[in-house]
Order: sequence, then C-alpha cells, then structure tokens
Amino acid sequence: MDKTEALKKMFTAEGEQIDTNKGAAYYDALWNQCRERLDELKASPKVSNVSINNVLSDEGIERRDFMKWASATTAALMLPASFTPLVAEATELMNRVPVIWLELQDCAGNSEALLRADGPKIDEIILDIISLEFHETIMAAAGHQAEEQMEDAIHHFKGKYLCFVEGSIPQAMNGQYGTIGPKGETFEEHLKRIAKDSAAVVAVGTCATFGGIPAASPNPTGAVGVRDIVKRKPIINIPACPANPANMVGVILHYVLTGKVPELDSLARPKFAFGYRIHDNCERRAHFDAGEYVEEWGDEGAKNNFCLYKVGCKGPMTFNNCSIVRYNESVNWPIGVGRGCIGCSEPDFWDKYAYERPMSGAKIKAPTGGVEKTVDEFGLGMLTAAGIGIGIHAAASAVAGKKDHHEDEE
Ligand code: SF4
Ligand code: SF4
Repeated sequence: MDKTEALKKMFTAEGEQIDTNKGAAYYDALWNQCRERLDELKASPKVSNVSINNVLSDEGIERRDFMKWASATTAALMLPASFTPLVAEATELMNRVPVIWLELQDCAGNSEALLRADGPKIDEIILDIISLEFHETIMAAAGHQAEEQMEDAIHHFKGKYLCFVEGSIPQAMNGQYGTIGPKGETFEEHLKRIAKDSAAVVAVGTCATFGGIPAASPNPTGAVGVRDIVKRKPIINIPACPANPANMVGVILHYVLTGKVPELDSLARPKFAFGYRIHDNCERRAHFDAGEYVEEWGDEGAKNNFCLYKVGCKGPMTFNNCSIVRYNESVNWPIGVGRGCIGCSEPDFWDKYAYERPMSGAKIKAPTGGVEKTVDEFGLGMLTAAGIGIGIHAAASAVAGKKDHHEDEE
C-alpha cells in the first residue's frame, strides 16, 4: 500500500477516524496562513547561519532529491501535494527556530537516531540546520560555559524556543535520582524551569513521553513522563524507542510552517504519525489475513516471512508509522527483518508488550479498552467483542485460514 492509501485509513487510538479529506476551502485558508507565517519568519533574523543549501551541497545531495524528500514529507504531514514548495521553504527557514534539547533519565538513543552520521539522509541532516542552542551530548561547551549558553538562550529566545526533552523524570527520593548542574537541580526542577519560557515542549522517545523503560515495574526511581510534570504548555509526544527521526523532523517542520502544534491524539501524539497501527500497513498483513503464522522461531513460517502475531507481535495494538517510514534510511524495520513489534510507542510498553511469549494465552489490554482475544480464541461470534479493532475481514480470514489448516491436518 502506498503512503496516500495509508493516510486514507487513519484512526486515533480511540478508534475515531481522522478526517484526511478536509476540503479545498480548508486547505486554501491553511495555505494562506502558512504563506504569512513563512513571510514573517523570513523577515525575522536568522538564529543560526547554517543554510540548507550549504548542508545539502556538503553532503552531496542534489536539489532534485531534496524536493523528492519535501514531497514525501508533505504527504507524511497529511498535507496535499500543493504544499510541497511551502514545506521546502519551511525547511530552509528551520534556522529561525531555536531549540533547547534536554537529556534527563535516558540512554540518548533518540539523539543517536537523529545524529547517525553514516550516509545521513535529509531527516538526519536537519539537525545541522535547526538552531540547536543547547544539547549537552553534542555541544562543544561543558560545565559553566554550557550552563551560561543555556541561560543566554532561555533569556534571548524567551517564548520562542522549542524545548525538546529526552528521558524520563525520576520523582522518588525527592527527585534525587537525577540532578544536574552545579546547584544540584533535580531533573524535575530543571525541566520546569526551562519549559516555562518555551513556545512548546516536545517529548521525544518513550521515556520522555510515558516514562519508558525506567518506569517499568517496579519503577525504582519513580520515573514519569513530561506530561506528568509540565502542565501549562503545549506538549507534543513523539514516542518510540527510539523516536523515528522523520517524526521529530515532521514536528519541527510543522511548527515552522504553521506556528502551531500539529493535531494530536489523546496521548498528545501527532496524528500524522500515530494515526494508524503498525498492523494496518504491515507487509506481512496478507499472511495474517490468510491465517499463515510463524508458530515458533526458525520454522517454515519464519522462512516464508509469515505473520509474527503468534510469536508475540504487538503490531495490532501499536500506533506508529514505522511500517511506512521505516528506519535506517527507510531500508528496513523490525518486522521486515523477522522480529515482531514490541509496542514501543505505547504507554507502559515494557510491562505490557515487550515480552516475546506467544500471544496464545496472553491477555492484552488493548488501547481501545477491550481485552484482546488471542488468535487461537478468535471465533466469528467473538468478532464484535475483539477490542483491538482488527478488521472483521482480517479476523475472519485468520479464523478461516486456521480452520482450513486444521481441516488439512485431519
Ligand atoms: S500481527 Fe504483526 S507481523 Fe502480523 S500483520 Fe500484524 S503487524 Fe504484521
Ligand atoms: S515496529 Fe513496533 S517496537 Fe518496532 S519501532 Fe515500531 S512501534 Fe516500536
């Protein structure tokens, strides 16, 4: 299925269908708003002198490839193709929006995902263009100098900067599990202080969004996500472990283009990226529909790239666009290499989803509130009760496939 087809099928985690066809008048008004916003940004002083044209030329990327990327990004942002020149222009103006990047209780995996230097594609080189005012892992300054740089940025760009947060916030022992700077500020105090004067807070990765692995049972540090701490700011959650660079770039671009946060679901995730399930666009979906499963690792099903549901794939209850955007320069993704989805973009994923025991026997609380029936329990009478919203056709096919299989055995 191509990206346009996929976008037509978008649903929120609550099962609400996303309106992907808003009509010409809506898009005309939006186009004008974006035009005004970009003109305003163009007239504002550059925050950084790095230009996209220089970076593209340094990386040996041709303008034609950049425009192809802009066209794909426009589709990923759920905008019509007529917005492509605006998206390209917004990318050129990314050096007008300052970003302060905080690392809290984390592994820096999201920074790493964005920084990959081996043959970076355009999503990854965007980090060179945005005006990254503070990022403790990649900045040259350290200690007091770094602190000063941060204070200057907060003061100078008050109300204008995006505060990116990577990592969870420990609350046990009065937050003493994580302190920063010469005054021993706790991560909570640090985050609140820097978020206060930002334009919006962007939580990247599952630790910053929902607590992630540090919050897994028994959660010794009392780890929580940004939304549990920051209350009076727009917050955009970009979960996954790590968050896909394309989604981080998409959020910044959307902000540059419109001056607003994108449309969000109830977990504050941008609908353009988290409006469909892994399962909706999975390349193994035809095997699910046909009832063809990997029954155990290394069997014939595995060799034939059958569906991984019975060996623990959580794609049916996971909202993310990995099946479309993929990883590593869009070369591949976990299910593509024979590994089930572990639901890393969902709250409490480590406790709920990140185990590999087969689904048969496992009772999973699905995002829509229902208790999922396992493949082995599916029956036509149960279809309406299946909370995860697997299409009736799909589930019926799975049952039919299983039945045929059993009939063959008899
Ligand atoms: S269960 Fe997993 S492997 Fe099977 S079709 Fe769905 S997402 Fe793909
Ligand atoms: S396939 Fe699933 S576990 Fe893997 S990155 Fe995507 S959401 Fe996370």
